[in-house]
Amino acid sequence: MRGISAVPTYVVMQPTTLCNLDCSYCYLPFRQDDRKMSVEVAGAVAASVNGWARTGRFSVVWHGGEPLAAGRDHLAALLAPFDPAVEHHVQTNATLIDDAWCAFFAEHRMRVSVSVDGPPERNGDRVNRGGKPAYQRIVQGIDTLRRHDIPFSALCVVGRPEPGRATELYDYFLELGCEVLGINVEELEGVNKRDNRHPAAAVTAFWAELVTAWRRDPRIHLREIEWSLRYAGAVLDGTADDLLPRTLDPIPTVAQDGSVVLLSPELAGFHDPRYGDFTSGNVLSTPLGEILAAATDTPWIREFLTGVEACRATCPYFGFCGGAHAANRYFEHGRFDVTTTDHCRNSKIRLLEGVLDHARDHEPTAV
Ligand code: SF4
Repeated sequence: MRGISAVPTYVVMQPTTLCNLDCSYCYLPFRQDDRKMSVEVAGAVAASVNGWARTGRFSVVWHGGEPLAAGRDHLAALLAPFDPAVEHHVQTNATLIDDAWCAFFAEHRMRVSVSVDGPPERNGDRVNRGGKPAYQRIVQGIDTLRRHDIPFSALCVVGRPEPGRATELYDYFLELGCEVLGINVEELEGVNKRDNRHPAAAVTAFWAELVTAWRRDPRIHLREIEWSLRYAGAVLDGTADDLLPRTLDPIPTVAQDGSVVLLSPELAGFHDPRYGDFTSGNVLSTPLGEILAAATDTPWIREFLTGVEACRATCPYFGFCGGAHAANRYFEHGRFDVTTTDHCRNSKIRLLEGVLDHARDHEPTAV
C-alpha cells in the first residue's frame, strides 16, 4: 500500500455542525453551533460522486454534528442531487429518531448506524446539553427503528478496555439486535484531551475476551474482530500482502462550508500555525476529483506519508494496520511523521495480540 487513491470509496458529509448532545469524549469543535451545509455544496459533491457511483459501489456517510439535527426537509434537499446508485449512510446518536425519521430512512434507503456505549451504566459520557444522561432517549430511538424493522449498525466507544467488559458489551449488543458492531477505544483527539493510555495487558485481555464472546454466538458482524481474523488467516495462507488496499483511501470529509479535509475527518475545523486549517480545497471552487488528484500538494499529507513509510520500515504490525489514522498522530504528537500512538497501541497492536492470545488459549491439544 503506497500513496493515496485518486478515487475514494466513500465521502463523509457534514450536514450541520450542531449536535443536540454534549458527550464528554466528543472531538467536534463546533457542536454547539448550527451551521448547516448549503444545497450548493451537496450539488458540487454530487457532481463528482455520481460519476464514481455509476462505475462501482459508492457511499456517502452523513456525519455530524448530529446529522438528524439538520432536519428532514434540509437533509432531503441535500440528498436530492445524488444519483440513486449512491448508497447513503447516517451515523446518529438516535435521540431524534421517531416514526417520521424511520419513514425518511426507508424512503431514501438510508443505512443507519447508532452510537451507544452499551448498558446504561456504560453511557455516563453520553449526556445532553444540561448534563443529563441521554441513554433513555437513545434506546427510545433504537426501539423505534426496531418497530419499523429498520436494520441498524452500532458504534460503541469504550473508555476503559479491560477484562470483564467485553462479554458484557457483546451480550448487550446481541440483545439490542444490531447487525454490525464497531468498537472504538476512546481516542485523544480534537477537543477531547482525556488520556487514552491503558495497561497493555488489560487492553489485550479485553480484545481476547471479545473474540471469545463473539465466537460463542457470532450473529453480529464484529468489525474489528472479523478484520483481525481475516488478517491472521491471510498470514497463515501467505496472502497477507494482498489484504490492504494498494493505495490509501482518501476519505474526503466535506464540511458544511464545502471545505475538504482528506484522510481524517477528525481534523476538520482545526487550525495549526504550521499546517493551517488542514483543508485541501473547497468543492465550491474546485471539483472534488481535482482536489483528490492534488492531495499530496497539501504539506501535512506529505508529512503523513513519510510517517506511513516510517511505520512500514519499523513496525511489525504494519501489514495489519497500514499506518492507522493521521489525526491520532497529530493530536497525540503534534505532527504526522511519527509512528506509534496510544491509539494504535490500543486499537491495532493490542487488538491483534488479543486475537492471537485467544487463538493460543484455544489451540487444539496435541495427542
Ligand atoms: S501499529 Fe502504529 S506504529 Fe505500527 S503501523 Fe500501525 S500506526 Fe504505525
